Amino acid sequence: MVLAQLGGSISRALQQMSNATVIDEKVLNECLNEITRALLQSDVQFKLVRDMQTNIKKIKGKTSVVMFVGLQGSGKTTTCTKYAYYHQKKGWKPALVCADTFRAGAFDQLKQNATKAKIPFYGSYMESDPVKIAVEGVETFKKENCDLIIVDTSGRHKQEAALFEEMRQVSEATKPDLVIFVMDSSIGQAAFDQAQAFKQSVSVGAVIVTKMDGHAKGGGALSAVAATKSPVIFIGTGEHMDEFEVFDVKPFVSRLLG
Ligand code: GDP
Repeated sequence: MVLAQLGGSISRALQQMSNATVIDEKVLNECLNEITRALLQSDVQFKLVRDMQTNIKKIKGKTSVVMFVGLQGSGKTTTCTKYAYYHQKKGWKPALVCADTFRAGAFDQLKQNATKAKIPFYGSYMESDPVKIAVEGVETFKKENCDLIIVDTSGRHKQEAALFEEMRQVSEATKPDLVIFVMDSSIGQAAFDQAQAFKQSVSVGAVIVTKMDGHAKGGGALSAVAATKSPVIFIGTGEHMDEFEVFDVKPFVSRLLG
């Protein structure tokens, strides 16, 4: 099998899996079998393929901690719930932790959204140390066997040293598997510097662009991708929980050019 065919088979298998309403053991096995077949047909060593299968299955049982970062008003808290809700529908057991002790009302907002989506949440009205809350939240939900723990962090109006230091500490204490940078689609030219500043403090691994239902073309997303060397994974298309889409290159590029 030539490389292009192999790539095609693998992306088809992954696409089928992500299209599934619920990703359970059966769907995962089908996807893995499909990939295994393609790899073996391409003469990849049997042992390597078998190890890959075993490792992927091991990862599935593991809890993922995902930390959200971004400026205040970017849509970070809203996006945390959308991300949790999206994965809950796919069969995951998500939970939300509010480590934003800076903005008054942040915990109430997260609590309200989480309650609406029937997603467990953790936060505090009294505790002012975001690191402490983040650690307690993650530990609590690990004990409850949640497999996706989402940590919302404080945003500020601009890039401030204190915000980055706090974020760095939360990241060091909770050791997230993924850090997602949330950016408003209307940010435009400022996106590169902003995203780069975040990347310098925490290891951003993905980008979510919000408010794509507005007039902005979202060109700043390209700068954020370049600055963080991370892909855009979802876009926000409204204020509601289900106004959230997996990022798709074609419509995004048409909008940029149109
Ligand atoms: P945070 O300060 O970054 O946590 O931002 P919030 O989550 O509080 O969001 C700020 C505002 O943007 C709120 O009024 C949200 O309802 C709104 N918002 C978030 N995402 C979207 C989106 O994709 N589309 C639209 N139209 N509004 C959004």
